Amino acid sequence: KQLGVALVGLGKYSTGQLAPALQQTKLCKLAGIVTGSPEKAAKWKQQYSLPDQNIYDYKTFDRIVDNPAIDIVYVVLPVGMHAEYVERAARAGKHVICEKPMAPTAEECRRMISAMQKAGKKFSIGYRLHFEPHHQEMMRLGQQQTLGPIKRLVADNGFRFNNDTPWRVDKELAGGGPLMDMGIYCVQGVIYTKGQLPVSVTAKLAPNPDPKGLFKEVEAGVNWQMQFADGSVADCRTSYAENLNSRLRAETAKGFMELQPAFGYGGLQGRTSQGPMNLENVPQQARQMDDFADCVLNNKPTRVPGEMGLRDVQLLQAIYRAAATGQKVSTKDVVAVLDKT
Ligand code: NAD
Repeated sequence: KQLGVALVGLGKYSTGQLAPALQQTKLCKLAGIVTGSPEKAAKWKQQYSLPDQNIYDYKTFDRIVDNPAIDIVYVVLPVGMHAEYVERAARAGKHVICEKPMAPTAEECRRMISAMQKAGKKFSIGYRLHFEPHHQEMMRLGQQQTLGPIKRLVADNGFRFNNDTPWRVDKELAGGGPLMDMGIYCVQGVIYTKGQLPVSVTAKLAPNPDPKGLFKEVEAGVNWQMQFADGSVADCRTSYAENLNSRLRAETAKGFMELQPAFGYGGLQGRTSQGPMNLENVPQQARQMDDFADCVLNNKPTRVPGEMGLRDVQLLQAIYRAAATGQKVSTKDVVAVLDKT
């Protein structure tokens, strides 16, 4: 059986990535949509042969409880709307995937987790790179210390934002700026390569080129460092003001391993001090959604649970606190969840 997925929010990511990926998945398929736009509803209905009864708007969404064709609700809305729609999907008794970052605050994340627990349904965050071969190789090399223990990591991810999706610079809808949107990949990559959580963070905001305009409510960029118990560190950067290298690198006493480009939907390339990784680029979102469907069908735990989403929001908040105070901030109270290979 292929599980039915309903996409909530038909913006760039749903249109450009998730809906096409759901044509390639084996264990799940696009079965429904939730949109505020009658034009999009008509277009998608035709393009993907969706039956009328599987098309909802934001008001009728709760009726999805009565629809056995929808097994999984995938929330692809601005970050500030994630909690409401995850909680409503939980009340409708559906399994849920929620896009990253999970929510603007840890408190909302906890509410989402407890709503999903109460519903007794599976819950994951849209962390596609955990299912991607280059990133899985970084996890393997780092966690198994193939080249020796990691002494230093570097992660950069950022782009020049052109305001095509204005919610991304709206504090309430985005929860923050590039750190929430792009920096989260650095935090994630560093942790699954090192195989440990940091013990503290320090951070500094980048100069803001447009404090009265584009970056009135959110930061234009952040440089931060994550410190680990063994004395190793990760130096990270994110920005909406400049195109940064998309890069994840780990250095050991014996050598290095690195991905560049590291965080895109395809075209990833990896190398170690011993040579190129020569790994395949795969349809990431199809793998990610099929893995979740497999977890639902076979009652397995997901590698990217709500608790990991909460962990990352707690870390991002610690980084904001470090930037605001100029102080080192302890991360010892962050929920301890790791993706161990
Ligand atoms: P987008 O702006 O293109 O899409 C957002 C959708 O939400 C639109 O269809 C919009 O109509 C709808 N919407 C409903 N209420 C809205 C409101 N009040 N304000 C603005 N839009 C509203 O954004 P996107 O790039 O598709 O991002 C959507 C989600 O997907 C975000 O959580 C984002 O972080 C995530 N995302 C994840 C990845 C990934 O690689 N995992 C990539 C891109 C986006």
